[in-house]
Amino acid sequence: IEWDKEQGWHDARLRPYGPLSLDPATKVFHYGQELFEGLKAYRQPDGTIVSFRPQANAARFNTSCDRMAMPRLPEETFLKSLELLCDADRDWVPTREGHSLYLRPFIIATETGMGVNYPSNKYMYCVIAAPSASYFSGAVKPVSVWLSRDYTRAAPGGTGFAKCGGNYAAAFVAQQEAVAKGCDQVVWLDAAEHRWVEEMGGMNLFFVYGSGPDARLVTPPTAGTILPGITRDSLLKLAPELGIPVSEEMISVEQWRDDVASGALTEVFACGTAAVITPVGRVKGEEGEFTISEAGGPVTMRLREELVGIQYGRRPDPYGWITSLA
Ligand code: PMP
Repeated sequence: IEWDKEQGWHDARLRPYGPLSLDPATKVFHYGQELFEGLKAYRQPDGTIVSFRPQANAARFNTSCDRMAMPRLPEETFLKSLELLCDADRDWVPTREGHSLYLRPFIIATETGMGVNYPSNKYMYCVIAAPSASYFSGAVKPVSVWLSRDYTRAAPGGTGFAKCGGNYAAAFVAQQEAVAKGCDQVVWLDAAEHRWVEEMGGMNLFFVYGSGPDARLVTPPTAGTILPGITRDSLLKLAPELGIPVSEEMISVEQWRDDVASGALTEVFACGTAAVITPVGRVKGEEGEFTISEAGGPVTMRLREELVGIQYGRRPDPYGWITSLA
């Protein structure tokens, strides 16, 4: 779908996957005015195709648009674009649990010109649909993480809460560093002191304190620098319903290390659309190396089972999260 000042959103088209032809002076190539969303379409036992809280993705898309001086897309247009793709060929949506149709809506600045002082006056919104297998093959495997002190993902007033490509571009070097240190993923810390835990490259973090009926969850507050994950938000609602209280509190890397050592912190997991809920195992940083839980603890696995159950229609959805797409 195209946007310009005179016509607003117009010219919606459904077309086979293929290259886009763009002028070399198109603004997105030079000034990075781009942002995206990521969500999945799932097959339910009765054959219907649904998504998980796509309205929340539409809302986050528009919050990102505001930050990047891009035009908002009405929620109904966002949802319609997903429905059109799912309806075009229902067989695209895999039937096996753990598999889904990945949907990647994005918007780019398409005006041509070298002027850096004003935003583009033309945009294109597009959605890619691609069947995807489970993020993890076989058993749920804990990720190992590197606590990054050298790089910052987001500063107050910046774009950390928006899902713009530039945030990810700036993260690759830290991800390379994590891999060089023998870890799977980076954990980002705050910009000012480099000690308050924020999030991972594509996932938010939760800490489990205590165990059994005394288990409680803590997650860092989003505070403008963390991407407000839809999985995170869902767990803030789901966990208390299961009798697991949740609070949003800042956690420092020293506290993380010390609370693992004392046994107070029993599990840590990461969550996001792609990874759903994934245990964090080994942690490495300047403060040393420690391991939390090799296998994924009971609270992590229970929340994972509940969430996946709702997404694949095995569990009731009293929250109204499941939205029919086709
Ligand atoms: N943080 C970042 C940086 C991400 O890219 C993602 C994935 N969108 C998340 C957190 C998790 O968000 P969600 O649960 O909406 O997928």
